[in-house]
Amino acid sequence: MAPLPPRRRPARTGGAIDPVGGAGRCALPVRAIVAFVYAPASWHTGFAMTPMTAESEPSDGPMPAGTGRPVRLSLTRRAGRPARHLADLSRDERRQVAVSLGQPAFRADQLSRHYFARLVDADETEAMTDLPEGARGPLLEALLPRLLMPTRTLSCDDGLTRKIAWRTADGALLESVIMRYPDRATVCVSSQAGCGMGCPFCATGQGGLTRNLSTAEIVEQVVHAARVLRRRELAGGEGRLSNVVFMGMGEPLANYTAVTAALRRLIAPPPEGLGLSARGLTVSTVGLVPAMRRLAGEGLPVTLAVSLHAPDDELRDELVPINTRWPVAEVLAAAWEYAEASGRRVSIEYALIDGVNDDVARADALATLLAGRLAHVNLIPLNPTDGSSWRASAPAGQRAFVRRLRARGIATTVRDTRGREIAAACGQLAAEPAGRARHVESATTVEAAGATNGSPAHGNRVLR
Ligand code: SAH
Ligand code: SF4
Repeated sequence: MAPLPPRRRPARTGGAIDPVGGAGRCALPVRAIVAFVYAPASWHTGFAMTPMTAESEPSDGPMPAGTGRPVRLSLTRRAGRPARHLADLSRDERRQVAVSLGQPAFRADQLSRHYFARLVDADETEAMTDLPEGARGPLLEALLPRLLMPTRTLSCDDGLTRKIAWRTADGALLESVIMRYPDRATVCVSSQAGCGMGCPFCATGQGGLTRNLSTAEIVEQVVHAARVLRRRELAGGEGRLSNVVFMGMGEPLANYTAVTAALRRLIAPPPEGLGLSARGLTVSTVGLVPAMRRLAGEGLPVTLAVSLHAPDDELRDELVPINTRWPVAEVLAAAWEYAEASGRRVSIEYALIDGVNDDVARADALATLLAGRLAHVNLIPLNPTDGSSWRASAPAGQRAFVRRLRARGIATTVRDTRGREIAAACGQLAAEPAGRARHVESATTVEAAGATNGSPAHGNRVLR
């Protein structure tokens, strides 16, 4: 590869952490006490015993022995274990629970149909008329506890985009975003409360990891979105949820077991699951290579998105700290294995950051890496985040980058950023109500004025 031009040194303002510097160069953010550690592999199994990960499944991207990885942990409070929910269980397991309550096994199927097919909320017990009144209470308690409490709902784009901030029973915070398009409806879900990967351009990464979400906590975000659409609560009339993208808070492959179980639940038809098409599901990863390989072997025909952001290790080490463990060549080799196994085109995500990674030499280097591969590039003009002085590339720079890739035959699209004004776009989810206050004002203004920013969509592939 030809030498790439030196990039401008990334600068952050405010109390953010410089993930490049490791523990020695951390500045503590005002809002949380955060530890930034390079955890040895031996921590992998011990991770569940740390105060912040009470969930049975630790951050479980498989780790080869003797290796380290960046994990930033939020130490603000002790996390709890989410209550068992029917979406955590297979159909047989749910039936066993019903039997253990002295009920016929089919009661579990009835309850599952209420949840997955009728999209009944846990509070709407009166709608469950086929369940005898005496059985309803114990069944609901055992299989349908309320896992997520909405703490704030914001909308923009004339009501076509909605961000929901959730609080779990143990106080963990997460967010999901529902986006309505003319031809589809997408929910962007969180797989973890926070994230431990520390990418410096991402708001989620600045708060550290609180804990993994359970399968049901992930599924519940999707069921909620399906319910909102079916009940015409979003602008545009009744809708059907078609797409789920794991691009909210967290690194999905660091919560591998819960995420793959959630994918299965989303695909399985009722009463087992929600019955979504696997083609509409996308898992985005920062590049946890062993977990990518493992996913390739699952036989789940979902789309894999790989957050690359730089074609060279020198820059990617800074933008995506986990690159020091799994460099570009290994990440892409695993991506091509996934494409081969699934037959699906891998999406290469590349946030365009002004003066940092948007030079045409890097476009050329990226084209060389992707030539002849089952892949397309999805460019994301950087979304602004608190405390960062980085900006999106100027439109002319974006166009030049796109032209360069296309000239080399690389399928390239630019994602527009729906939801920016309510901090709902990629990398802006931080689930910190206090810090979001000014976004609320901005959202209200947008709604009151009935205005739209004219942006075609977060997650939308816009050909330019
Ligand atoms: N942890 C996973 C998925 C969640 S992030 C991952 O990193 O892939 C979803 C996408 O948003 C990723 O491609 C991520 O790189 C991107 N992203 C994060 N911060 C961003 C920002 N400020 N602007 C644009 N994209 C961002
Ligand atoms: Fe985590 Fe993804 Fe944000 Fe990186 S970009 S900090 S992996 S959520």
